[in-house]
Amino acid sequence: MKVQLRPWMSDLASYVPGRKAAVSAGSMASNEPALAGSPAVHAAFSAAAETLHLYPDPLARELCQRVAELHGVDIDQVLVGNGSDELIFLLVLAYASMGGKVLLAEPPYRIHELAPEMLGAEVAKVPLVEWRHDLETMALEEADIAFVCNPHNPTGTALSASELARFTDRCRSGLVVVDEAYVDFADEVSATTSMERAGKGDLVVIRTFSKLFGLAGLRVGYMVGPTDVISQLRALRMPFSVNSPAQAAAVAALEDTKSSEAVRSYTLGAKETLRSLFAEAGYESVPSQANFLLVLAPDEESLVRRLARGGVSVRSGSALGIPGSVRVSVPSPEGMELLRSALASSG
Ligand SMILES: *Cc1c(COP(=O)(O)O)cnc(C)c1O
Repeated sequence: MKVQLRPWMSDLASYVPGRKAAVSAGSMASNEPALAGSPAVHAAFSAAAETLHLYPDPLARELCQRVAELHGVDIDQVLVGNGSDELIFLLVLAYASMGGKVLLAEPPYRIHELAPEMLGAEVAKVPLVEWRHDLETMALEEADIAFVCNPHNPTGTALSASELARFTDRCRSGLVVVDEAYVDFADEVSATTSMERAGKGDLVVIRTFSKLFGLAGLRVGYMVGPTDVISQLRALRMPFSVNSPAQAAAVAALEDTKSSEAVRSYTLGAKETLRSLFAEAGYESVPSQANFLLVLAPDEESLVRRLARGGVSVRSGSALGIPGSVRVSVPSPEGMELLRSALASSG
């Protein structure tokens, strides 16, 4: 082979996805929703089969229009992507690649770190304090992009919208990007989301259809932000990255508020059951505003093995930058029973 990886890519650690369990109810490593998607969404997806011979709408106008209405913003403030991961890469490509700088919390959501590593941007990381972003310290760093994951993955902790507004006003970075993949699972969504500031063009908010809406397999995300950022990124993105079944399913998912509300309320209740199951087994966990729980487990490795023997797959904290913990997604009722038995079995 005569080609070589570009030097900054040579020792890059690639993304390691969560492991699937043998029975899907036991998979609690990837924060997928606990309940399957809605029949209306499946119908929209199937109907899109009729037009598979045509290219999708590159601008995903219908979807962007629905998103704009939902958040009360202009359609020119909305951009869709092949999962929010594509949008994260686009932001880094546009504003920090080849010598720019990205600011993150330590530990970060891995994709926020992987994108700058791949695209030749410097990464600065500010350690979490008591599991939360240290916004005071982050505000002092000068970077091209500051990513704030709110609620944070892997801790599940959230910042209030007013804390983030203050950060945005004071921070020395060029662009604040708030990744709100889990915001729908916060106790008070309106006091947590930064969408209002995104609508004013002060920052970028990224949302995904992978969590609340259950479309992780289709890959759709969107961002809301300043019109000039949106138009610059629109010019850079692969025009057909969001396929037509995904666009149709996402529109249907936004319409089916009954289903998404059911997922949200189930998740909030089951999160409390999950917390108390671990508490009864002697494990504390970090209070979570997401659809997963960071469980503090000094015996991380043996806990992971014990759960695996019971058919339950969780994410090792060591792999997420928090040794001595495991991250557990809120499971379905069936998954909860698997977990209950696995925790009851002796180590
Ligand atoms: C799951 C997750 C996403 C979703 O990514 P998609 O590419 O939209 O599936 C984004 N950000 C964070 C922090 C996540 O945990």
